Amino acid sequence: MKTEAPDSIEMLRRLVAFDTTSRNSNLDLIKYIQSYLEDFGVASTLVPNEEGTKANLYATIGPADMEGGIVLSGHTDVVPVDGQPWITDPWTLTEKPDGRLYGRGTCDMKGFIAVALAHVPAFQRARLKVPMHLAFSYDEEIGCLGAHSLVEKLMGNVPRPQAVIVGEPTMMGVVNAQNNGGGINATFTGVEAHSSMTHLGVSAIHFAGDFIHWLNELQVELAARPPDGGIDTMPGFTTINVGIISGGTAGNILARECTLSWGYRTLPHGNPWEVQRRAEAYVAELLLPKMRARHPDANITLKRRSFVPGLKPEENEEAAKLALEWTGGNRTYAVPYGTEAGIFRAHGIPTVICGPGDISQAHQPNEFVAKSQMQACDTFIGKMIRWAETR
Ligand SMILES: [Zn+2]
Repeated sequence: MKTEAPDSIEMLRRLVAFDTTSRNSNLDLIKYIQSYLEDFGVASTLVPNEEGTKANLYATIGPADMEGGIVLSGHTDVVPVDGQPWITDPWTLTEKPDGRLYGRGTCDMKGFIAVALAHVPAFQRARLKVPMHLAFSYDEEIGCLGAHSLVEKLMGNVPRPQAVIVGEPTMMGVVNAQNNGGGINATFTGVEAHSSMTHLGVSAIHFAGDFIHWLNELQVELAARPPDGGIDTMPGFTTINVGIISGGTAGNILARECTLSWGYRTLPHGNPWEVQRRAEAYVAELLLPKMRARHPDANITLKRRSFVPGLKPEENEEAAKLALEWTGGNRTYAVPYGTEAGIFRAHGIPTVICGPGDISQAHQPNEFVAKSQMQACDTFIGKMIRWAETR
């Protein structure tokens, strides 16, 4: 059995080399982690997706039957590099004299996973009084799809942990509040006709345009509301965005189909379902009847693509107190973006977000994590180990 591990940066080099863009399988990376853990005598469990093309992984180190452990959570997938002006090879960790480590996923968020894995022998050597659980997911970047089954399996199989640390990039600040986020696909079905005969058909695109206009007005209305609960997530109000629109076949044909991929973010204390419910009501009561009056075959469907529950600070005090002890920080932060933290929190476990790197680097070309951030995370995990030995 091995006892010496690569350091966090060497581990990051290994993880970055796997192209785990969400559209690809993450199994090569997961199998690498599994065999790495095995080398240190740590058994792990895979939670695959339905097709068996991707998997989550969880593992427990230390007294597995004890409550009060810590979950170290991270996602293994990364966003695409397509079309981005990368100066270095995104899949080769490149250290520059500026003290930065470049590569896709360095910051979001293989850096945290690397630190966790590099500490596996230290976890093994320590006299842990409570267990350390590793929980690595797939498909976070496309709507936190993998984490639901991972969290369910983990929570069903280990005694109740005391806290979850989700290692998304926060510059090692402790984040205890995040927005709710929902993604919805809207499909408009019209009736084709020649553009000189608009009375014979229904343009799916024109009705999709009405819907977008309505979303814009809703956004203005919601932005004027005072923030709930006084939490300062930027920008402090509900946001709505239509990210993809597609449809139509020619400039002189009324489009038969138009699809919108859209989504919203609501404040931690806001009603996470309001935007969806209001969109459903608008479609059912106003837009669809208007469309059907033109032709009975017209249709509109709204289908949920993803939902990421938010985090409220007061629910996470226990986790925040611990994390602040280990970072040495004196305040917590709120963020507008979604992470898997809300999914753990929905299972009743105090959860905070705290990891190396700057979120402004996430999804960017020439993404990097500073070496000093990796070191700060090493120190954080070191303090966590001492806490777990002495409690
Ligand atoms: Zn991330």
